[in-house]
Amino acid sequence: VEAQLRHSQKMESIGQLAGGVAHDFNNMLSVMLGYAQLCQLEAAGASPLSLYLDEVIKAGERSRDMVRKLLAFSRKEIISPRRVNLNDHCLEMKKTLSRLIGEEICFDFVPDDELWPVRIDPSQVDQILMNLAVNARDAMPEGGTLTVATGNITVDTEFCDFRLDAKPGPYACLSVIDTGTGMEREVVRRIFEPFFTTKEVGRGTGLGLATVYGIVTQNGGFIDVESEPGRGTCFKIYLPKLTGDAVVQQESKPTAMIGSG
Ligand code: ADP
Repeated sequence: VEAQLRHSQKMESIGQLAGGVAHDFNNMLSVMLGYAQLCQLEAAGASPLSLYLDEVIKAGERSRDMVRKLLAFSRKEIISPRRVNLNDHCLEMKKTLSRLIGEEICFDFVPDDELWPVRIDPSQVDQILMNLAVNARDAMPEGGTLTVATGNITVDTEFCDFRLDAKPGPYACLSVIDTGTGMEREVVRRIFEPFFTTKEVGRGTGLGLATVYGIVTQNGGFIDVESEPGRGTCFKIYLPKLTGDAVVQQESKPTAMIGSG
C-alpha cells in the first residue's frame, strides 16, 4: 500500500512539474516554428537551405506533438463521466484504430453482448484505446493481430488479497491483446511510470500508460497486464459496473481531473 501511495504521489508531482515546463516550452517552440516557416517562405525553391529548413520544421512539429502529450497528461481536464457501454465505444473507434495500426496488423473486435455499463467520460475511453493500440502497433513491426474484447467479471475478495488496488465487486473488462514482442518482467514492472519508455528518442514519451493508469484509477478501476517476451501482451482494463444508485449521479456536474490520477 505504501508503495502504491508513493507511486501516485510521484505521478502527481511529476505531472505538475512537467505541465509547467511544457507550457513555457510550447510558447518558445511556437516562436521557433513560426520563424522557421518564415525562413522557408524566403528560401523558397530547391536550395539546400530549403531542405534544411524542412528538417527543422519537421523536428519542431514532432516536438510540438510531444509537448501536447505532456500537457494533456498534466492538465486538470474537465471531465463529465456518464453511463457508457464500452462495446458502443469500441465500435465507434474501430475505424480510427484500424487506420492507426495500419494494414499489416489485423484488427479483431470480440464484444460481449451482455456487457455491464460503466461510468466514465467517453473521451477517456478513446484515450485508453488509442494509447493501448499505439503501443500494440509499435510492438508488432512485422504485423500481427490486435484483439479488443469485452466481458463481465466479478472480482472476489481472494483476488483482492494479492491485488491491493482492486476492490471486490462486478466489473466490465476491456481487453487489448497483441501478438507482438511482449515484455520482460523488469519492463512490465515500470510501464506505468511517467516517462518510462524503451522507444527511441522522439518516438516515445513514456506518458501513454501513465495516462491510462491515471484514467482507470480515477474511475475506480484497475489494470492487469500479462506479457510474454516473443509472444505478446494482454492489457485488461477493469471498470466498476454502474449500479442502480450510481445512475442518479449521472446528472452531476463535471468534476475536475488531475491528469496523474
Ligand atoms: P511510450 O509508448 O511513449 O514508450 P508508454 O507509457 O505508452 O510510453 O509505454 C511504456 C513502455 O511500455 C513502452 O516504451 C514499451 O516498452 C512498453 N510497452 C507498452 N505497451 C506494450 C506492448 N503492447 N507490447 C510491448 N511493450 C509495450
